[in-house]
Amino acid sequence: MTQAYTLERIAPIVGGVLLAAGPHTPILYLLQDSRRVIHPDTSLFFALCTARRDGHDFIRDAYKAGVRQFVVGRPVPLETIPGAGVLLVEDPLKALGDLAAWHRSRFQLPVIGITGSNGKTIVKEWLYQLLQDTYTIVRSPRSYNSQIGVPLSVWQIRPEDTLGIFEAGISQPGEMKRLEQIIRPTYGILTNIGAAHDEGFDSRRSKLREKLRLFAETRWLIYHQDDPMIQEEVSTQTHLRLFSWSRKDPNATLYIRHVEARAGKTTFNAVYKGGEVETTIPFTDEASIENALHCWSLLLLLDVPRDMTQLQPVAMRLELKQAIHHCTLINDSYSADLDSLYIALDFLTQQHQHPRKTVILSDLLETGLPERTVFEAVAGALRQRQVDRLIGVGPGIERARHLFDEVPKRLFYDSTDAFIKDYPALTFRDESILLKGARSFAFERISRLLELQAHQTILEIDLEAMAHNLQAHRNRLHPGTRIMAMVKAFSYGSGSYEIANLLQFQKVDYLAVAYADEGVHLRNSGVTLPIMVMNPETSAFETLVQHHLEPELFSFTILKTFRDYLEEEGIQRYPIHIKLDTGMHRLGFNPSETEALARLLEKDAALEVKSVFSHLAASEDPAEDDFTRLQAARFLEGCRTLQAALPYPFLKHLDNTAGILRHPDFQFDMVRLGIGLYGVDGTGTLPLQEVSTLRTNIAQIRRLEPGETVGYNRRGRIEQPSLVATVRIGYADGYPRRLGNGKGWMLVRGRLAPTIGSIAMDMAMLDITDIEGVEEGDDVVVFGNGLSVSEVARWADTIPYEILTGVSQRVRRVYFEQ
Ligand SMILES: *Cc1c(COP(=O)(O)O)cnc(C)c1O
Repeated sequence: MTQAYTLERIAPIVGGVLLAAGPHTPILYLLQDSRRVIHPDTSLFFALCTARRDGHDFIRDAYKAGVRQFVVGRPVPLETIPGAGVLLVEDPLKALGDLAAWHRSRFQLPVIGITGSNGKTIVKEWLYQLLQDTYTIVRSPRSYNSQIGVPLSVWQIRPEDTLGIFEAGISQPGEMKRLEQIIRPTYGILTNIGAAHDEGFDSRRSKLREKLRLFAETRWLIYHQDDPMIQEEVSTQTHLRLFSWSRKDPNATLYIRHVEARAGKTTFNAVYKGGEVETTIPFTDEASIENALHCWSLLLLLDVPRDMTQLQPVAMRLELKQAIHHCTLINDSYSADLDSLYIALDFLTQQHQHPRKTVILSDLLETGLPERTVFEAVAGALRQRQVDRLIGVGPGIERARHLFDEVPKRLFYDSTDAFIKDYPALTFRDESILLKGARSFAFERISRLLELQAHQTILEIDLEAMAHNLQAHRNRLHPGTRIMAMVKAFSYGSGSYEIANLLQFQKVDYLAVAYADEGVHLRNSGVTLPIMVMNPETSAFETLVQHHLEPELFSFTILKTFRDYLEEEGIQRYPIHIKLDTGMHRLGFNPSETEALARLLEKDAALEVKSVFSHLAASEDPAEDDFTRLQAARFLEGCRTLQAALPYPFLKHLDNTAGILRHPDFQFDMVRLGIGLYGVDGTGTLPLQEVSTLRTNIAQIRRLEPGETVGYNRRGRIEQPSLVATVRIGYADGYPRRLGNGKGWMLVRGRLAPTIGSIAMDMAMLDITDIEGVEEGDDVVVFGNGLSVSEVARWADTIPYEILTGVSQRVRRVYFEQ
């Protein structure tokens, strides 16, 4: 076995200075998240600075969890972490990469490096499914493909591994060179290059060139040559041996001559090395076809024939759903290894809406570690996250049951069948349940029991996209500017505590709701952030105070009533927010009233002004910028008057989403972020991700002849032989009735289909004549992924806010993380 890593040994590898020697324990694990300490003795903590947090702030937490070895980017007071080993480097992220690169250089194994815009994770997971019997494989956990994820993945290589599969993703120019040094792939796969220009790249071509840097030292590159730009750029890489596949060009290495989709399967006939080859996959959609052809190419190149009909869908995401008896179910069938378990457990601990947490866990079949080691790690993780109940399913976890004595409640079954047989005797009530099983345990049978059944139109909320959007706006803030996240109207239609939990985890500073009961609901779900209530009604004062909600006060009448209420209750210094009207003329004190307001607040002991704010009427509109500046001037004047009267400071805030981007000078102490969080950028300057996707499906398809009509009042007239699909969404779900009769479109098999006839209460009809291969039951996107909500709003002559908040509460919300 190779020599063990110690801090002394790592110091010269990463060019660091040892500030304190520490315990000399060999280092087996690299850590960058103090909440993920599982093996404290053998872990090395890197204090990484990201845009979101400074890892140095978490050194104490990691120390408390038992970690004794640290890599830091600036000196830390050693007396606060007595006995710890501390290595000072210039940049901890670079040190992490250097260490991983060094580790990689000690192994000769073949490594497959995958990059591209889409499909990286699926290709990686499918290759793993196809090759796991032939090789001992080390691969990136989940989608660990970033500047942090790649080193952590590569660090997992052990001497017994015979194949590595790693994915690489970049968000800025220059990053790929770094990832190349760490992965050093021997085989490369370029999945594709999306048309969207990511922030930071001038063009699709420069993005492609940057991605190709992953293959600087690669022997073989597999790629799809039907994209002319890819073909052109790849041909300039003279050091590479190319394995191209094509559906058009007989000269490609693998020429796909015939593709036939039938009964849920696709069969490919192709020419390879002058001979005929054939394979079949159990999918028919375009993305799966492309991903599978990359995998097939690699199988041919390695000369390891495999039956591809066995490919399993890759569940790419953690899903959060409403479950029976007021439970929340987190479903994670992604992969059964320790890293993905930690990620799922973190997601579980973010849920504060229920008092209890249950984990239903199968044997972990993909760790490559001894059973005992695995379950000791699992037990540690469950203890650390204070899981209340463990239900273990499988012979392995049952054998290891004695390791879980510290979990308050424990149940073990040797199979999924045994669990299901016992299910009627079990209680699940008001708890968060994490369901995580290896594929062979078929936990989908358990999730069917636990899920609340609802109708098939759902609003999917991509929590990771929301976190991304939050970060995209954070990047535009002046340092130190706080964020108040607007979660009024059920978070613009997307949910309540599910969203608030995420925002709390992502460390926003404030939440704002419209009405007291929205705030109460968040408090009852465990949200502890300060919450501003914009429409405090007199009848709700008691509720406000009980739940520590902070009212916006906008007139003398409401201010005096609230103050009288506080005095009656003997409450002092209750946090409030003052709203000034600077031109919107909706709510707020007039500029002429601020002097009198100052006199009133000056002597008041019942109220404490936490913030003073105003709302811009047209922050998104360049034609109104003079008016916006006038509003800002009035606002600052009002703030000055109030500040002169008050002996303590308060926060000033004016900008909403469009204001943050278009009027950065008015960000002041805090901004109020609304629609941007939910993926809508009116200014077109941020690469935001769609958060909400409204999906339905096709209930029936019929063929109609000219002269026939569709729907109420016979409004849809058929003029040529047509195919019409009825979908399960109507105006009662929030789909605007005015989008009937061809005004609106939905996505069917990735293509736009117009409505035909009037929208009914629960249903709508689409003209799918021009779309091939549509079947009953097919998924339909109403808005979201692939069809922006702004576009749909334009068709309906309204704004995205109205479409988003209009999705009715009978539409089930499903939350997920990629
Ligand atoms: C809704 C709201 C916002 C957020 O506006 P967006 O345009 O969604 O960013 C900010 N401030 C107030 C007072 C609001 O009511």
